[in-house]
Amino acid sequence: MQVGFIGLGTMGGSMAANLQKAGVALVVHDLHRQAAGRHLAAGATWADTPRAVAEAADVVFTSLPAPPDVEAVATGADGLLGGMRTGSAWFDLSTNSVALVRALHARCAAAGVALLDAPVSGGPHGAASGRLAIWVGGDRAAFDRHKHLLDAMGDRVRHIGPIGAGSIAKLTHNAAGAAINVVLAEVFTMGVKAGVEPLALWDAIRQGATGRNRTFDRMGDHFLQGSYDPPDFAFRLIHKDVSLAAALAREVGVPMRMVNLALAEMTEALNRGWGGRDSRVSMKLQEERAGIPPLAVPPAEIKAVLERDG
Ligand code: NAD
Repeated sequence: MQVGFIGLGTMGGSMAANLQKAGVALVVHDLHRQAAGRHLAAGATWADTPRAVAEAADVVFTSLPAPPDVEAVATGADGLLGGMRTGSAWFDLSTNSVALVRALHARCAAAGVALLDAPVSGGPHGAASGRLAIWVGGDRAAFDRHKHLLDAMGDRVRHIGPIGAGSIAKLTHNAAGAAINVVLAEVFTMGVKAGVEPLALWDAIRQGATGRNRTFDRMGDHFLQGSYDPPDFAFRLIHKDVSLAAALAREVGVPMRMVNLALAEMTEALNRGWGGRDSRVSMKLQEERAGIPPLAVPPAEIKAVLERDG
């Protein structure tokens, strides 16, 4: 199997090197030839254009900055689509637009090429060490055929669903991470300004109920199951706690935009008469606004996922 790799930057450079360490012979291309220095030294072949990579490869990986770069590499003059053979596959490891990967998927399918979106998560260290999640959307058989290559780059390789599913998972994850960071900055500055030394504050909160849990695991207890009764912790009590924190922030003069938004959201839920339900019940309001059916994932299926990953 001939393997092509385009985009040898922070992430792609290390992922391509890990393919080589697994014994895979690569044909590589980047806007800047010097990005390929270590790969060429390790035996890779240089190609002058994306099209030349495609012509030489049965499967191509791309790791490019943003949607316009992926579009240019795919559809530009001497682009990938001009060279890919019927029966070949293209995995886009970039964080890309769902609409673009679906549009490119349709064009590829017409030419007998399987495009799979396969964004990654783990940062530069993960790309280098192989402690990397790869979330794949697209044809299951093409995924299975190339899984050994994905396993050479990441230790958490998952087929998520049809084309676009990998990108949706990635955007869900990164939007959560970024929004959580905004909230953490807000509450942490409140704690420091109210009088606790930063290291002591961090040391304390990381040992609390939220601190001990993996960020997304706790969604499984209530939100994913759609189960808020009986409560583990009554909603009116967490509403009281957030009211106290918002009041403290006002006393010490720290703006808490996100926490006050959360408090307004929670007050709306309280006014539904949900004070005796579980502390996470305000999450139900967003299901209504999003226009999705109430979540009701069977507990056994949630447990199976948690046990699989340890
Ligand atoms: P980067 O800018 O370091 O690397 C991109 C590479 O693509 C560069 O070497 C660049 O020269 C090359 N390139 C750009 N346009 C090209 C073109 N038209 N033809 C050929 N080569 C081209 O970016 P990165 O940090 O490696 O990120 C790559 C992708 O991975 C992005 O979509 C990013 O969002 C995603 N990602 C990044 C991280 C991270 O922590 N850096 C983590 C997860 C996912």
